Amino acid sequence: MQKLLPTSTAGSLPKPSWLAEPEKLWSPWKLEAAQLTEGKRDALSLALQEQQQAGIDIVSDGEQTRQHFVTTFIEHLSGVDFDKRETVRIRDRYDASVPTVVGAVSRPKSVFVEDARFLRRKTSKLIKWALPGPMTMIDTLYDGHYKSREKLAWEFARILNQEARELEAAGVDIIQFDEPAFNVFFDEVNDWGVAALERAVEGLRCETAVHICYGYGIKANTDWKKTLGSEWRQYEEVFPRLQQSSIDIISLECHNSRVPMDLLELIRGKKVMVGAIDVATDSIESPEEVATTLRKALQFVGADKLYPCTNCGMAPLSREVARGKLQALNAGAEIIRTELSAS
Ligand SMILES: [Zn+2]
Repeated sequence: MQKLLPTSTAGSLPKPSWLAEPEKLWSPWKLEAAQLTEGKRDALSLALQEQQQAGIDIVSDGEQTRQHFVTTFIEHLSGVDFDKRETVRIRDRYDASVPTVVGAVSRPKSVFVEDARFLRRKTSKLIKWALPGPMTMIDTLYDGHYKSREKLAWEFARILNQEARELEAAGVDIIQFDEPAFNVFFDEVNDWGVAALERAVEGLRCETAVHICYGYGIKANTDWKKTLGSEWRQYEEVFPRLQQSSIDIISLECHNSRVPMDLLELIRGKKVMVGAIDVATDSIESPEEVATTLRKALQFVGADKLYPCTNCGMAPLSREVARGKLQALNAGAEIIRTELSAS
């Protein structure tokens, strides 16, 4: 029987200080050329080791080879000019200077497949691999070619599907698409966002997940959260459509956030990665705090479908804090496993 409540992380983990400046998003690399390639692989091995030592069941690359969860994937595509910058508003929240789509987009070669093979060789645990979702990708670019968010999203979905099929062939067990944009553009999500995501997973036999969160613990996000009121009901807008979708697992922010837990009822039947670790604070959860969040989620998610997880990526945290949080996640899950086996 598969272990109950298998733990995992949303994706990114802090990078070692010899590879990139710590506790920072978009942190520039400290190495170059062949040394950088080797450094990224060493960091990936370390990230794996830290997850395994903390008892994490479904491991990832900790996103050690990417500078950013969206941009690094796009950098490998043709049709996007990184020197031609335009300022756009990202997720209706903050302005950023972004690259421009100047022609038809395509993927000349695999982006992460070699990294995935490397990770597969190093562990026999289940592997989860994160890719950006189509809607979050278009929201990080200026489109000077298709002039249609929907058209560009379908193009990216086709490209993501190519990458996902190769990741599956490399031995990845769960492919996750990060779609924080699903928490913002509700009409588009329901009109074509979920459909584009389903295009990205077409033909896959491995499990698929979508991660929807309230973002990293950076200022633009914490300021935005202050405007959301006492109950965060954003998930309510997209859950009914997701419940009907072909995506197997929904990854959510649940700990220390104002998301009413009963919204999980709307995705009844899906597997749920329940965020039980807050990534926007340095204080490390106690195992009992983690267990409390999981216990609440169990009212709406079957024990066989609950996957304890982090709210979001931990890239901006210190390694020490991230390590503590991984251990807390595992210890909290263990409390609930014991309770379940006693009942
Ligand atoms: Zn996230």
